[in-house]
Amino acid sequence: MISRIDLRGSLPGDLRDVLPRAELDVEAALEKVRPICEEVRHRGAAAVRELTARFDGVEVESARVPAEAITRALAELDPAVRAALEESIRRARLVHRDQRRTDTTTQVVPGGTVTERWVPVDRVGLYVPGGRAVYPSSVVMNVVPAQEAGVGSLAVSSPAQKEFGGLPHPTILAACALLGVDEVYAVGGAQAVAMFAYGTEECRPVAMVTGPGNIWVAAAKRLLKGRIGIDSEAGPTEIAILADETADPAHVAADLISQAEHDVIAAAVLVTTSPELADAVEKELPGQVAATRHSERITEALAGRQSGIVLVSDVEDGLKVVDAYAAEHLEIQTADAAAVAARVRNAGAIFIGPYAPVSLGDYMAGSNHVLPTGGCACHSSGLSVQTFLRGIHVVDYSREALAGAAPYVCALADAEDLPAHGAAVRARFDWEVPS
Ligand code: NAD
Repeated sequence: MISRIDLRGSLPGDLRDVLPRAELDVEAALEKVRPICEEVRHRGAAAVRELTARFDGVEVESARVPAEAITRALAELDPAVRAALEESIRRARLVHRDQRRTDTTTQVVPGGTVTERWVPVDRVGLYVPGGRAVYPSSVVMNVVPAQEAGVGSLAVSSPAQKEFGGLPHPTILAACALLGVDEVYAVGGAQAVAMFAYGTEECRPVAMVTGPGNIWVAAAKRLLKGRIGIDSEAGPTEIAILADETADPAHVAADLISQAEHDVIAAAVLVTTSPELADAVEKELPGQVAATRHSERITEALAGRQSGIVLVSDVEDGLKVVDAYAAEHLEIQTADAAAVAARVRNAGAIFIGPYAPVSLGDYMAGSNHVLPTGGCACHSSGLSVQTFLRGIHVVDYSREALAGAAPYVCALADAEDLPAHGAAVRARFDWEVPS
């Protein structure tokens, strides 16, 4: 059901070559996505409607979701789901509110200051996936940090669902209503990203698009980056678990399965120092998989080359392996898990010990679940308030402070053969560089 890689003994030079990983060729998808984006750019809302018919199999009159559909979705929402969404929003707000940045002013010299002023992006487009599964939780995870950052205008887009008359899934609409979002579009995939980037007759263009999605969404974000800002590429879900003999095999198996449930190309990787645990987890998996609803999808994800059990000699090597893998989600289920977790350098989010499964983070920990995948955690972070802020340096120097800097500016300007740079300073001192 799941393959095994034995790295006991010495670790190979480039660990990334031997670790399980999905072969997700976003570059190849770019070729398919380019004409989709061009269509939307040149033909606007009509192209969006045609692409929705082609890829989502549903004809819609307008991509914009009517206000009454959003209100109705909330009125009809199962009370238990409503309570869960409200609690998820409350917890996420607590965490994201604490991420707010304060402006800092540094006095560089007397009379010379630099202030870093944090300014939210004016308008953002938030993508909420809805192909294989629907993700009302992703509404919370996108909207809360944008709101806490102070973004003035935000729009949500999620695929049109045939069974709901071309609207996004009602729970997604209800989540929007709970968060006070009234600008919602029933558009999925690359065409949603293009609609946000270029704007259409129905949707004003945005400055930034965030949110997870499949390969078409990731490719469109990569293609249109520059025209719009994007968050990290949050692609198919990954879980890595670093565990020793103290871990409970039933819990480890359940957690691997929980993330494999997302997608046939989702990755589930166990890194362990204990061959006994590896055996016990392998024994657990078939029974647990058979008992769950999406067993086919999970079986494919676990058997795929992106998933596996990696045996290592000790926790030290295990840390090297998980750092090289740079998982979206990393669970540490070892003795002294907090101390081991403190040494991890690359991960989207870390879950410590037996009572912090990734599912908690997916919905209710308060942390964000839009996280970098595909190894991007070695250079990128998950969605946060910071994603939606720009730091503007504000430079304020007096005549005396500029006089003090002038000789240095002129020396460096000359060294770069850019004399006009020096001249711009000298002009303020009657062309005499103050000494
Ligand atoms: P999705 O909304 O990302 O994609 C569905 C859209 O893809 C459709 O609306 C359609 O327009 C488009 N599409 C489908 N087939 C196409 C084709 N052949 N060519 C062009 N466009 C096509 O939903 P999904 O497919 O369920 O994928 C969601 C992904 O997001 C999953 O891989 C899941 O693991 C991931 N996810 C990641 C995170 C994270 O934080 N990393 C969180 C939630 C979900």
